[in-house]
Amino acid sequence: MGEPRTRGRFGEYGGRYAPESLVEACREVDEAFRDAWADPGFRGALARLLAVHAGRPTPLTPADRLSEALGVRLCLKREDLTHTGSHKINNVLGQALLATRMGRRRLIAETGAGQHGVATATAAALLGLEATVFMGERDIERQALNVFRMRMLGAEVVPVTAGSRTLKDATSEAMRHWVGATGDSHYCIGSVVGPDPYPWMVREFQRIIGDEARAQCAAELRTGVPDYVVACVGGGSNAAGTFAGFADTRALLVGVEAEGGAGASRGRLGVMHGCRSLFLQDDDGQITQAHSIAAGLDYPGVGPEHAHLRDLGRARYVTVSDEEAAAAAVRLARTEGIVPALESAHALAWVIRAAGDGELPAGSTVLMTLSGRGDKDVSTLKELL
Ligand SMILES: *Cc1c(COP(=O)(O)O)cnc(C)c1O
Repeated sequence: MGEPRTRGRFGEYGGRYAPESLVEACREVDEAFRDAWADPGFRGALARLLAVHAGRPTPLTPADRLSEALGVRLCLKREDLTHTGSHKINNVLGQALLATRMGRRRLIAETGAGQHGVATATAAALLGLEATVFMGERDIERQALNVFRMRMLGAEVVPVTAGSRTLKDATSEAMRHWVGATGDSHYCIGSVVGPDPYPWMVREFQRIIGDEARAQCAAELRTGVPDYVVACVGGGSNAAGTFAGFADTRALLVGVEAEGGAGASRGRLGVMHGCRSLFLQDDDGQITQAHSIAAGLDYPGVGPEHAHLRDLGRARYVTVSDEEAAAAAVRLARTEGIVPALESAHALAWVIRAAGDGELPAGSTVLMTLSGRGDKDVSTLKELL
């Protein structure tokens, strides 16, 4: 997972399946990112933004009471404590800074629940860029608070009326819009998906989670490296960033998907949004709609690197139901005083289940990325409790 890919591929996955004008735009992003990533000036500017604006480094919290009940030693990497409340800000600050370096004046983004849209609007405001966020009409109705936050931050929110009027359609629309705006706009993708270089670039912007956690585990755990490294997987960016910090260790990597959005566990080979990867499909090869109580896991595919890690056997992918995730969220709230995002609660639900059925041997050390905070999910949880 250093230079992860050969010519834009992770094994048989990845690539750049896009119209010619976007292939050229992706090539420019690739070149600009390689140049920036090798430039200590860019790295330093990003590190400063992450520290003074986003609140990094985030702490590693030993979950003592829950650990004792489960018979394992669980540590939480606290991405919920970043500004805007999830790991998404790490990627967005990186891409916004890159856009500035490329002379772009506007960010284009897609969003489902609005988390990535809010992060993009935040970074745009901070760096004096414009932001145009595509969002399905159904999601606009369901996520009024985040729509308001984006508009308050000065972003334009464009309703998408095509198809199921959710994230998949918003992404297609954002890509179509970028075709006519590549000269002055950067497309800021929100996860490790889309055409090359996005899966790789977003992973690099998120590897700060894994790198920090690696150093923090070395100080916190007697064993130095945890036995298990666990994260939830929607498109897969918080997991990819976490895994990257432990790629060269013997830690067992576990990605936890929603039962209704299990691209890595149950997807089949396909192409969508410019990328060859695993997608949920019907018998005719049509990509199907995902369903999860966690909006961030409500995506029918998974990033190409995860598909490759699965094939290699380097990481394994498991699924958790809506009910298990909701129960895990309540349990964390009541044992540790932390209300997690429902996405993150999926990762925790697997830890609880695996500790219970002996899959996690007693005394195991577990690092789990807590990708976000649960404030956005209170109305969903209210209906379930
Ligand atoms: C968006 C989101 C996710 C899922 O995205 P990944 O790219 O898979 O990390 C997970 N947790 C939270 C809190 C999110 O907002």
